[in-house]
Amino acid sequence: MAKEELECSFCGRKKPETNLLIAGLDAHICDRCIEQAHGIVLEESKQNDSNDLSAELKLRKPHQIKAFLDEYIIGQDVTKKVMSVAVYNHYKRLLQTPTTDDIDIQKSNIMMVGQTGTGKTLMAKTIAKMLNVPLAIVDATVLTEAGYVGEDVESILTRLLQAADYNLEKAEKGIVFIDEIDKIARKSDNPSITRDVSGEGVQQALLKLLEGTVVNVPPKGGRKHPDQKFIEVNTENILFIAGGAFDGIERVISKRLNMQAVGYSASMSDDVVDQDHLLQYIIPKDLKDFGLIPEIIGRLPVLTYMNPLDADTLRAILTEPKNAIIKQYKKLFDMDKIEFKITDGALDFIVNKAIEYKLGARGLRSLCEEILTDAMFDLPSSDEKELNVTKAYAEGKLSKTTIKKLKAVS
Ligand code: ADP
Repeated sequence: MAKEELECSFCGRKKPETNLLIAGLDAHICDRCIEQAHGIVLEESKQNDSNDLSAELKLRKPHQIKAFLDEYIIGQDVTKKVMSVAVYNHYKRLLQTPTTDDIDIQKSNIMMVGQTGTGKTLMAKTIAKMLNVPLAIVDATVLTEAGYVGEDVESILTRLLQAADYNLEKAEKGIVFIDEIDKIARKSDNPSITRDVSGEGVQQALLKLLEGTVVNVPPKGGRKHPDQKFIEVNTENILFIAGGAFDGIERVISKRLNMQAVGYSASMSDDVVDQDHLLQYIIPKDLKDFGLIPEIIGRLPVLTYMNPLDADTLRAILTEPKNAIIKQYKKLFDMDKIEFKITDGALDFIVNKAIEYKLGARGLRSLCEEILTDAMFDLPSSDEKELNVTKAYAEGKLSKTTIKKLKAVS
């Protein structure tokens, strides 16, 4: 066949009318048809994705869920167990077929109480990773009542849609982590104080989302305005996990425990209260006394707590989780064919500095970064094939001023 006679076997365009004509065994295809076909393939695979979703939400047993969490998170066994059960039940609920027994499994939204940096966000991230569902992490402090400066509560769902690449079906089975939920607690017990824009009003707005409803969500976020198109999102099957430090809640717990002790008059001797870890005794009423409205507490029925991180835990966080910080540096150096070693003494030194300067787990990374930046800058262009970080090396790289700087940003 003469060259100029070549044509696309799909649309019939002659070669000169196309930008590109690709030859196959017995046929040709032009650039336009390739693009069109590609579009069809994408559409199809989207369709398949959503069909696969229920398969993806493989019903893992609580033991397996906890084992997965163990790979990424050190300690926090109580929360891991509670979360495993809550997540298991949540996905059982998704897979329930309509029955005639009128038993409707309620949502198991979760409330995690614990200081910042104890792994609350990590817990939510790990669950989302395991289930392969989209996760939106939002900060309750930016939320305000509709009409006030700040973000409408619906913006939470905009984030979830974005995390799901606007696949509505995926978003509707996703997870939302609401951080700093304690910051929207009512500021005072006196309900007559001047309007509490970011407090109780936001709690009320959140309620609807938590209990399951259809919300008009502005796909691009921001304020709602009349001519914007909305996406209807049903929150019925979205798992909400809330977290907060609830600074000072120990006092509330302690007060309650003391009152109970007095009330019983009998001694609580067989039930000695561990004064250093009061969070473990937390009950929903404490959250109410802290300023959350009872309805919100009711919609987050699974209540759990995170332990503060001690030296052993911090040490383990450095080296043990699947993507532990030290493992990450090792990999980075490996890519330059440099063997990275760090001594126990250096690891202990890093942990001690993190504790001494109250930097928490977040500080571990910044400390490592300070210690290793020079090496990461210089070694790739040198002949060195090994880096051995000792305590002396680490000490040398960390001056008092750099630690102070870290403290300021943490
Ligand atoms: P929170 O949400 O409670 O403020 P994060 O989950 O953001 O805390 O944790 C802060 C950092 O510390 C993260 O980098 C996380 O990987 C690490 N981290 C905190 N607690 C743990 C833990 N128990 N196991 C492993 N890493 C942890």
